[in-house]
Amino acid sequence: MFRSKLLWRLYTGYVAIILISTLVVGIQLSRQLAANSLEEIQHSLAVSSELLAAIAKDSLLAPSPDSNSSALQAMLVELGVSTESRLTVIATDGRVIADSRELPQSMDNHRQRPEIIDALETGAGIASRYSQTLQQQMMYRAVAVTNNQQTLGFVRVSLPLATIDNRLAQLRLIVLLSAGIVALAALILGFYFAKRFTDPLLKMTEAAEAISQGDYERRITVDRQDEIGQLAAAFNRMARSSAQRMTEITLDHNRLSNIFAGMVEGVIDVDQQQKIIHINQVAADLLGLSVTNCINQPIWEQVRVTEIINALEQALETREVVKAQMRRSTEEDDLVVDIYAAALQNEKQESIGAVIVLHNISELDHLERIRRDFVANASHELKTPITAIRGLTETILDDADMPENIRHDFIERVHAQSLRLSSLVTDLMTISRLESDHQEKSFHVFDLVELVRRSAVACKAICLEKQLDLALELPNDAIMINGDNQAISQLVDNLVDNATKYTNTKGSIKVSLCRKEGQALLTVKDSGIGISPQLQQRIFERFYRVDKARSRELGGTGLGLSIVNNIAEQHGGTVSVESQLAKGSTFIVALPLENFSENS
Ligand code: ADP
Repeated sequence: MFRSKLLWRLYTGYVAIILISTLVVGIQLSRQLAANSLEEIQHSLAVSSELLAAIAKDSLLAPSPDSNSSALQAMLVELGVSTESRLTVIATDGRVIADSRELPQSMDNHRQRPEIIDALETGAGIASRYSQTLQQQMMYRAVAVTNNQQTLGFVRVSLPLATIDNRLAQLRLIVLLSAGIVALAALILGFYFAKRFTDPLLKMTEAAEAISQGDYERRITVDRQDEIGQLAAAFNRMARSSAQRMTEITLDHNRLSNIFAGMVEGVIDVDQQQKIIHINQVAADLLGLSVTNCINQPIWEQVRVTEIINALEQALETREVVKAQMRRSTEEDDLVVDIYAAALQNEKQESIGAVIVLHNISELDHLERIRRDFVANASHELKTPITAIRGLTETILDDADMPENIRHDFIERVHAQSLRLSSLVTDLMTISRLESDHQEKSFHVFDLVELVRRSAVACKAICLEKQLDLALELPNDAIMINGDNQAISQLVDNLVDNATKYTNTKGSIKVSLCRKEGQALLTVKDSGIGISPQLQQRIFERFYRVDKARSRELGGTGLGLSIVNNIAEQHGGTVSVESQLAKGSTFIVALPLENFSENS
């Protein structure tokens, strides 16, 4: 397409120029040649007629020119043959005296011939016309033969115009042929040069098209040093740098995509029209979108979160980083997301869109709330015994006359409150140690059976006191686990202690231990007050107590099960509860076994 267009456009223009110039030159040349040859003929007619005048002068000077006309006639015939022209000698009255072609007697009077009239008037005359005598077109030149200002007669030389025309036709043919040959050669050369010019352009166009379609390795081979060669070289350089830039862009793009994909934050990139250009999976998951579906869609259509849209609009307007937060509460959990929106600008400081970063801080927020609650609860829990101790001691101090039995009762209550304070502080310290100390350095392998047995023995006294039936169901062989035996001991103590606390007199407690599926299962079962199903998970929370007053009365802190849960988790285990109100509770702790070689 391109080839035919440019090549043929160039070539037809070139052909037109060649043809027009050949035509103009040919016509001009043939005209000039015709004029030259006419001039030449006229000149030769002039020379011949002047010579003839000189020759005929003597005969015309003779007193009777007709007397020697035969000699003149013979001479004219001879001269006429040798000069290939017709020669005539005419008397002043127009009578033909001699003629090289015809007999003078047979010829009519020439006095009125235009050339003779001119010769009489001006000395020479020229005319061309059809000769009746010779039956053809002739050119005549007549000269007056004079002697001392007196006209003696006329001589006339004539040439048939056919000869002149033949000569001109020959000349024209030569001009035509030469012009034809030159034009043909020019056309062939022109085609060759036009092709030589358009071929590299065609190659360049093909290469440019290939490059635009992604073939960045495509190059042009043009072995020329001229401007086209330089253009091709420049084109190749451009292709090389485009390829290089493309590689860099692809690399940058991939790097950016990987960064986006690997980010824990959600990222949304929008253009000036607020269409989504990029969104990573985290952002899509947070907003419940599909990455592929929302690309190139306006953000306000896809993201129905007012906080995000407002932050984006504000960032685009102010060109400052805008921070916002979205909070959504679902049935399962609370979603808290920090939103950062920043406008993007190009090097001319023109806005080209914006980037939105979504930071899911639900977990952090949850932890922060737990921490706040913990501090508030701990303060409250600590404050209660302290206030009580303060009140009791102040009363004792204020009342010096207090009866001894009441004073004693007060002091016992102060003691009880201080014990409560002490166990509270101990539990708090245990929690703090468990949460901060994640190192396994205090871990070692020990026999769980032995540990459980010791704990059970330790609580025998209280069981006796409350008339509780304590049953132990322990395996004969050791169950080895790897852990902190002090912590595990506390875990068992807390569970057994709870069982004794929340089981009424004459109830029963069963502590059993077994191996199951690579785990050690510790079960503490009681026939106590039980826990309603909806509260069974909450009892593992810090300071959570089903019955606060009862727990306090029993010296509970509300931290025991939280400590149990914490210790189990630190050992890679779990704790669960099965309970029925008024029937009893079963706490099951599963701890991973130490590997079998050490167990055996
Ligand atoms: P506390 O110091 O109050 O015992 P825990 O964290 O050990 O704190 O227990 C939390 C709450 O769980 C208790 O206040 C009690 O209401 C309930 N609970 C714990 N163990 C039992 C059990 N064996 N039987 C019934 N309720 C229990």
